[in-house]
Amino acid sequence: MPNSVSSTTVMKEDPIQGPVWTGVDFGGPGLQTDFVRVPYSSDKSAYGWIPVPIICVSNGGGGPTALLTAGTHGDEYEGQIALRRLIHELPTTRLEGRVIILPALNQPAVKAGRRNSPLDGGNLNRLFPGSLTDGPTAAIAYFVAHVLFPIVDLVIDLHSGGTSLDYLPMALAHAGRGPAESESIRRLLKSFGAPFSAITNGSGGGGKSTLYAAAEQRGIAAITTELGGGPTLSEVGLSIAEKGIRRVLRDFGIAPDLGDDPNPTTRFARSLGPNHTIYAPCDGLFEPLVRPGDKVAKGQKAGFVYRTDDMVAKPCVLEFSTDGIVAFRRFPTMTETGDALFGLISETENDRPSHASKF
Ligand SMILES: [Zn+2]
Repeated sequence: MPNSVSSTTVMKEDPIQGPVWTGVDFGGPGLQTDFVRVPYSSDKSAYGWIPVPIICVSNGGGGPTALLTAGTHGDEYEGQIALRRLIHELPTTRLEGRVIILPALNQPAVKAGRRNSPLDGGNLNRLFPGSLTDGPTAAIAYFVAHVLFPIVDLVIDLHSGGTSLDYLPMALAHAGRGPAESESIRRLLKSFGAPFSAITNGSGGGGKSTLYAAAEQRGIAAITTELGGGPTLSEVGLSIAEKGIRRVLRDFGIAPDLGDDPNPTTRFARSLGPNHTIYAPCDGLFEPLVRPGDKVAKGQKAGFVYRTDDMVAKPCVLEFSTDGIVAFRRFPTMTETGDALFGLISETENDRPSHASKF
């Protein structure tokens, strides 16, 4: 039996019209490309809008819908490229549903290569479920949460560590609001097949204000990813994104013929959260002693911070407060008090019997 999500999607007959709008007819067949038009009245353009690219590829009726997003943070590149490649492949394969792709979701941030929007400073992954009165970044979140979420069955929001973090490649998800939703999220994680799959409540990050958390709160199977980091492209992260998305579209019956890539084993884990994150205790030069993926033990030295205001002071010694696996470490050497330097996950059970065993 194919691994398909139950679909109650009713495709809309008319293009969306509203304060933030697009010319895409979500009920239409084939490939459509347009913009989400986000009104932004500036000195240079009184009645203008920000063009957020949107692509819809559909069989024209029936079947589940996947929403795939990248560029929620503009300095994270693996997902942006993976989705742009997928756009060219989908029209050539058999579709039994619909795929909505926004590869540069916070378009002003993507254009600037920055985490947050240069227009209003907005961090799109801290503004869900969005608003129409708090600037253009919140308006993008509003469109996703209020126009797209109601017509989709699964969500993948592709992130990486960005400029400031080096991340162990992984997928992350909130746990779901009950056993059925938990199982559906677990199936999605297994199908995506990142090396690690971490369950988190978002503490220390965006909590419930992130795209995938807001989707989960609507009962949608939703995951996010971290696919490397630093101000560059990770080939490994890009490959994980490309293969994972294709497997999900295949396994969930949306594009059944998409590739024949087998499902790899993912190692399930849980985020250990801010209580076991190491934050910089002072301004200075950060010297790490361990890398993402390393197993560490309680009391183990993690690194040093050399104070910039006292050249003869001994460095601050960083220690892990529990056992775990390093999920991320800070990328830049220059650091300030409060910067997150290391985060941990803890591996959990990996193959409990479940519906997911079908994968
Ligand atoms: Zn991100």
